[in-house]
Amino acid sequence: LSERLSGVFDRLTKQGALSEEDVKTALREVRVALLEADVSLPVARDFVKAVQEKATGQAVTKSITPGQQVVKIVHDALIDVLKGEGEPGTLKVDNPPASVLMVGLQGSGKTTTTAKLAKRLKEKDGKRVLMASLDVNRPAAMEQLAILGAQIGVDTLPIIAGQDPVAIAKRAKTQAGLGGYDVYMLDTAGRLSIDEELMQQVEAVRDVASPRETLLVVDGLTGQDAVHTAQNFDERIGISGVVLTRMDGDGRGGAALSMRAVTGKPIKFVGLGEKMDALETFEPDRVAGRILGMGDIVALVEKAQETLELEQSEKMVKRMMKGHFTMNDLRMQLEQMQKMGGMQGMMGMMPGMGKMAKQVEDAGFDDNILKRQIALIQSMTKKERANPQILQASRKKRIAKGAGLEVSELNKLLKMHRQMGDMMKKMGKMGKGGMMKQAMK
Ligand code: GDP
Ligand code: MG
Repeated sequence: LSERLSGVFDRLTKQGALSEEDVKTALREVRVALLEADVSLPVARDFVKAVQEKATGQAVTKSITPGQQVVKIVHDALIDVLKGEGEPGTLKVDNPPASVLMVGLQGSGKTTTTAKLAKRLKEKDGKRVLMASLDVNRPAAMEQLAILGAQIGVDTLPIIAGQDPVAIAKRAKTQAGLGGYDVYMLDTAGRLSIDEELMQQVEAVRDVASPRETLLVVDGLTGQDAVHTAQNFDERIGISGVVLTRMDGDGRGGAALSMRAVTGKPIKFVGLGEKMDALETFEPDRVAGRILGMGDIVALVEKAQETLELEQSEKMVKRMMKGHFTMNDLRMQLEQMQKMGGMQGMMGMMPGMGKMAKQVEDAGFDDNILKRQIALIQSMTKKERANPQILQASRKKRIAKGAGLEVSELNKLLKMHRQMGDMMKKMGKMGKGGMMKQAMK
């Protein structure tokens, strides 16, 4: 009855499953780590709960403790939450002149980030950029942007005293059109905390500029407050993304997780200092590692998993070269393909496989087929997996039925298995084991 779990492959990867107790114990520590990183309490609680459900029952990798395994699961789940849709580090600025509206609290880094982004747009994307400061509250603010502009070689809208933010925004828009700019960036004034006047002002500016991107700039050190700020700006103004500043400090950046969880808006960039090139594309895995602060454990688990996979594929290659290519081997390969983004994804990565990927696609090979093929192998007995040649009509019917599929589909799988086996035997004879090994890595 435990046929399904008794395959060679399973025995190699599983030394046991995570019990509820294992998971709970480890998650207690994780929860503390999240709170220490300034993740807001409700977000930390929900996150831990979701992971608890997901982790219980998962396999533990050989040579790793249950606690370490949980940390790795948490780390991956963090990355999932932090990763938004869309490409981080990109801005929608086609159809010139496109406007980018910068919003946020005072001192969060709006002006600095405006200039950093302008520099990036100019240097990386070859855009002609115009920057305008709408900060009429502090006289020095407009000067600050003009100085930065001169420093990075990006034009700023000439300062005219006495204009209100909406008037300046209109002037920037006109000037951007007339001057042939691709992008104009509006650097708004902030307040120490959110107030009605600020929101109304930003709304009015937004209505004038119809920004292609509205970026909320948040101090990565503010932690808990960041959630409140992000929620408010998103509800009133509608933000398209977040820039997290001061990530060069000691803060662990828990704000990132809170904001993602609460607004669902992508984090696009992180600020890593006061200099104009201290701006980087947001990388979920780096920030996840920092929030959790357990990078060494994550690295350890990843290493163990890699080693195990390598050991397995080396063993498999050796056996296959001798002509032993079992259904379990095929299943392992299919599962690896799944992990690598399916058939198309994998072929795309292999040199010279582009043509084959096309053929595979034309033959109607989608990634559901991988799932179905794995299901078919799972419904074989251990003996059948080792010796598929014993499969006659009645066994075939049973297997297909077990997987909820047609016998014709099983026949296709068996044919593929035979062809792959033949190919490998040939390669083994040709003494190209090295090449196969390379291809498997
Ligand atoms: P604004 O009021 O939102 O426009 O904020 P500013 O752009 O004027 O920035 C306030 C201060 O924070 C300035 O001294 C900036 O140099 C500094 N700052 C901005 N971004 C970063 C960052 O990513 N790291 C560090 N360390 N300082 C930053
Ligand atoms: Mg400013």
